[in-house]
Amino acid sequence: MSLQAYYFDGRHSHRQPVRLSVSHACLLIEAENNEQRAIPVADIRVSEQQGRAPRTLRFDGDNAFCEVAQSPELDALLTELGCRASVIVRLQNRWRWVLASLAGIALIFTAGYLWGLPWGAEVLAPHVPIAAMRPVSSAALEQLDKSLFKPSALPEQRREKLLEGFRQFAAVDPDLAPYDDDLSLNFRAAPRIGPNAFAFPDGKIVLLDELAILHDDDEILAVLAHELGHLSKRHGIRQLIQTSAIAAVTAVWLGDVSVATTALYTTLLNSGYSRDMEREADDYAAEMLRHQNKSPDLLASALEKMEEAHRKKTSTSEQDSKDHFLDWISSHPNTSERIQRLREN
Ligand SMILES: [Zn+2]
Repeated sequence: MSLQAYYFDGRHSHRQPVRLSVSHACLLIEAENNEQRAIPVADIRVSEQQGRAPRTLRFDGDNAFCEVAQSPELDALLTELGCRASVIVRLQNRWRWVLASLAGIALIFTAGYLWGLPWGAEVLAPHVPIAAMRPVSSAALEQLDKSLFKPSALPEQRREKLLEGFRQFAAVDPDLAPYDDDLSLNFRAAPRIGPNAFAFPDGKIVLLDELAILHDDDEILAVLAHELGHLSKRHGIRQLIQTSAIAAVTAVWLGDVSVATTALYTTLLNSGYSRDMEREADDYAAEMLRHQNKSPDLLASALEKMEEAHRKKTSTSEQDSKDHFLDWISSHPNTSERIQRLREN
């Protein structure tokens, strides 16, 4: 192996292109006219590494030297010569290594958070017993009953009709079977929330009067089919695992559900569901509707009506828009995209 370098003889200022190699513990300097010099390793002083600046190899009592650009080949030549980098350089390199390792660790954690956690939650969710979701869900519902929810004023007859349609939908999906008796449709009113429906991870679905008033029964069932989709695909459980991975697990284990309840509360109200989950629930609803000889268009028109109501509310008054901060539209973004997708389906 030989390396391109410049030779300065220490008497003249001009530089001479040479090639460097190692032979018998000597640095071999070979000029273009084949003139050769062999310098014993012991007589060579190598400059310290400073950024990307060229290194100098001094000899002849430091008068003459060779200047070489930094490269892996130079490192190899120096190693062959037995020249070790100084302590400072080694420390500098070690620091670089430490920083690179830290950056690597940060990258692994970020990737873990972005992809590992959702993946883990998806793998884990089907194995979570529904019963484990009961304390958290009940506590969240209790909290909502005390704060935002009011008793429903929906006529008994209409409730019965909706319950019947809901049961028919739920009966066809075996993935909903583990929810057992917990799978239920519950009626509430919440003027401060606006048109909305929630699926609790233990299988309870809450339909608000504000949503029922806005739609006919078929459209409401289309929205409920979407919520059943969140349950069937265990989105709530997955979300709960993700948003509060460590806190929730520890809390449930320790029997203190308050941390997990808060996480669920936030998830439900802000709809922490990802775009993919919403899409999945829409596809599920479309399939469910088709299975019942109904059109997926029902969900699209339900979405349109809600969007319209949402628009009216936000434009009429500032206060109203604040009051309706949790309706289905604001908790389910990309409505127009979803309507289009359902119609193309
Ligand atoms: Zn949804």
